Amino acid sequence: MSDQPSEAGALTSAVAQLPRREPLLSVRGLTAGYNDVEVVHGIDLDVCAGEVVALLGPNGAGKTTTLSTIAGLLPRIGGDCTILGEVQPLNGKRKVVATALGLRARGLAYVPEDRALFFGLTARQHLKLAAARRDTDAIEAAVAPFPALRAILDRKAGLMSGGEQQMLAVARALAARPKVIMIDELSLGLAPIVVEQLLPLMRNICQDQGVGVLLVEQHVNAALSTADRAYVMVRGAISINASAAELLADSTALSNAYLGEA
Ligand code: ATP
Repeated sequence: MSDQPSEAGALTSAVAQLPRREPLLSVRGLTAGYNDVEVVHGIDLDVCAGEVVALLGPNGAGKTTTLSTIAGLLPRIGGDCTILGEVQPLNGKRKVVATALGLRARGLAYVPEDRALFFGLTARQHLKLAAARRDTDAIEAAVAPFPALRAILDRKAGLMSGGEQQMLAVARALAARPKVIMIDELSLGLAPIVVEQLLPLMRNICQDQGVGVLLVEQHVNAALSTADRAYVMVRGAISINASAAELLADSTALSNAYLGEA
């Protein structure tokens, strides 16, 4: 075996030297999967206040499973998970709804890949349900980045296009004024111009409000141009933990991970 660190290893050690803040979201040795079949094998991951973190990786790597487990929608198999300062207990399947609702109330917003909208409710009703009762500005703040959504606030979600639904799903997350936002496939169904506007918006929300963002995104360059750091997942494990700038400057490790050579 060579004494030289691998390319992925070198990137991981470089990011370890970055100044660290207290994480809003921290997982250690997370194992996750379906009916005790493990597909995520002991990953470590942090998201700190004011940073955008990208979770990248090829199809089937375990990104959605990781996000759903952190959000409390899938029971965790093992490992530790601390969210907004609270250590999360290992709850079984019966407690998933209570766990997910509790985490949402504490400030964790999750935009799942399927958007989880109620097709019979209008956009305005979704936003009202997400916003705190006394937060009268929440709806305005949530739709501000989406002029197209403002025009159809009284349309039912079931009558919206895929892109309009995605705007609503992100706006609903923002209406809750979360401290951490996890978004699975932000760009799904959105026109490139909307994605180009939305990514810097996530960046601004982070900077201005100290929100932490964990972003799963298949458009790797777009994600890295916005993110501070990135984890690359391959076959249920983190193969690279690097700053976005490092990954943008050296795409070999990234393409190896995607092509199965990591
Ligand atoms: P993609 O980029 O394609 O969305 P991903 O990285 O999000 O992929 P996951 O959806 O987390 O990957 O899937 C990880 C593994 O878990 C895959 O092997 C997949 O087949 C498996 N898996 C996903 N959902 C289920 C499920 N409901 N039941 C059983 N296995 C599942």
